Amino acid sequence: MSEQHNQHVAIPAGRTVEGLGLPAAEDPLTRRALLAGAAVVGGWITLPSLASAQNSPESPSAPPPTTQPDGSTPAAAPAVVNAGAVSPDGMYALPPLPYDYADLEPYLDAQTVKLHHDVHHLGYVNGANAALAELARIREAGGDTIRQVRAATDALQFNLSGHLLHTMYWSNMRRNGGGPPGAETAIGRLMRRDFGSYEAFAGQFQAAAAQVQGSGWAILGYETVARRLVVLQVEKQQNSSVWVVPLLGCDVWEHAYYLKYQNRRSDYVRAFMNVVNWDDVDARLRSAEPQR
Ligand code: MN
Repeated sequence: MSEQHNQHVAIPAGRTVEGLGLPAAEDPLTRRALLAGAAVVGGWITLPSLASAQNSPESPSAPPPTTQPDGSTPAAAPAVVNAGAVSPDGMYALPPLPYDYADLEPYLDAQTVKLHHDVHHLGYVNGANAALAELARIREAGGDTIRQVRAATDALQFNLSGHLLHTMYWSNMRRNGGGPPGAETAIGRLMRRDFGSYEAFAGQFQAAAAQVQGSGWAILGYETVARRLVVLQVEKQQNSSVWVVPLLGCDVWEHAYYLKYQNRRSDYVRAFMNVVNWDDVDARLRSAEPQR
């Protein structure tokens, strides 16, 4: 992954995700899906060839299925994930909710969803853009101002992690979601292999979410070296791991559940399992590993 056309995102050299298996992506749909799907926990993201993607014409329709090297035909092209998280000018943007505020009732109440999305998430978007601008100013000024890099980098890590994780969180949920993923989907097959069953995964995931110390996240992620699913606890949202592609995240910061569940985080986590959008999780997995 040598292309680094995107000028607007602070990506440390060498912090790209190994093992993503990014194809040449001849068709715009696949390319946009890969571009949008390459967010990595921890605020480090890889957006290969963004400039060329932005210049691509919109695909009028989904391309026909292509045959994989192993002879199989994928069920469908990966859906576009993280849509709306970056605006055409390269600034981060608040993606619109893919449903109405009340659509996740009774599991997540409308007022919490509205405040969480419209206020908290927007704050991360604005903070990430401000941190990037501040880092640009520091680089430009040089000299003694370089001492300000730490504070601006901290702000970038906190806000960019918040923006990317919340973007995933909203699309990870849907009305009438939950239950196990489809048995023959990529996520369903990998979950069976790596956790034994949906029930075993759900038990571990909910326990991890309930036991995060303070605020943070439980993350189902795809570890791209051994190519396996792992469940992580991410404390304070910016203290996260850069070696997984996040697939499913449950926000356990109090603002995600306090109005309805008060101190009962476990009840909120249990409710979250009823709104999981496995189609989105599956699309993220297939974007991370198109050969599966
Ligand atoms: Mn949150």
